[in-house]
Amino acid sequence: MGLSARQLPVRLAPYPDELLSSWIIRHAAFYAVPPLAMLQHCLPEIQSLRTADLDITESRVARIARMFSADPATVLRMTFSNITQSSRRLIASEPRQLCCSCSPITNELHPVLRSRFLGWRITCPLCGNLLQNADGGPRRSPFSRYHNSALIGEQLLDDEAERGMQNWMPPSEIARLLLMRRVPRPLPDRYEPSNYRVLGVIIPDLDDVLRVQNSKLPSRASTLLPLHLRPALLAGVAIVQRSGPEMLHMLRSHMMGENKARFGSAIDEIVDCARQSRTSSQLHLI
Ligand SMILES: [Zn+2]
Repeated sequence: MGLSARQLPVRLAPYPDELLSSWIIRHAAFYAVPPLAMLQHCLPEIQSLRTADLDITESRVARIARMFSADPATVLRMTFSNITQSSRRLIASEPRQLCCSCSPITNELHPVLRSRFLGWRITCPLCGNLLQNADGGPRRSPFSRYHNSALIGEQLLDDEAERGMQNWMPPSEIARLLLMRRVPRPLPDRYEPSNYRVLGVIIPDLDDVLRVQNSKLPSRASTLLPLHLRPALLAGVAIVQRSGPEMLHMLRSHMMGENKARFGSAIDEIVDCARQSRTSSQLHLI
């Protein structure tokens, strides 16, 4: 029997929603070996635990499952492999949040839950409670009045990310467009371009929050928002998704120059793409 086929004599049960790397790290601590060595015990070719979490093939899942005497489907669910490509930029590189009710308290190493990395969540997928910042202190969201819409947006983004579901436009694309800069009218005295986003047209409190609280929104390349600002974006996604493409064209009128052109061609491209994939799936049904 090769090294990769060997089963571990003692296996620790995974916690609900535990991330694969966390499970491996706990085993490594138990066997007093470095975590990567633990993983390479069955996958010698893999270079990092993060790779195992993000991109793992079925054959690798089978090898891990064999070593841990686990069901391959259980191992696969502990990774982000199922997350659709369009939603991958919403997976954080480190834990950003936690659920105080579901974070297991143990005397051993704390397991890290998968939900701690998901940039579209404001509630815990296990118990439904609001998530808290990873750095401890609770921070009340200035957007609590949009809570119900934010929950709808969270569900839309979750359906896209975890189950590949899309409507007339991928919700993650709506989120990206809503974070583009806009030009407010009339132009304020102290105009700081990064404080004015398209999202502020439909969630007007956003402009004030960004100006007064000095909160920084991420750049266009990333849609990962701090937890207390996230409800605004989720509510915005829900509102645009419900209103349809006309709302995006209205939002475009709040932009200028190159940004406006980029926003317009992004809408055309995405709506076109979605229409084509809908048509091809309908043809498929005939
Ligand atoms: Zn929970």
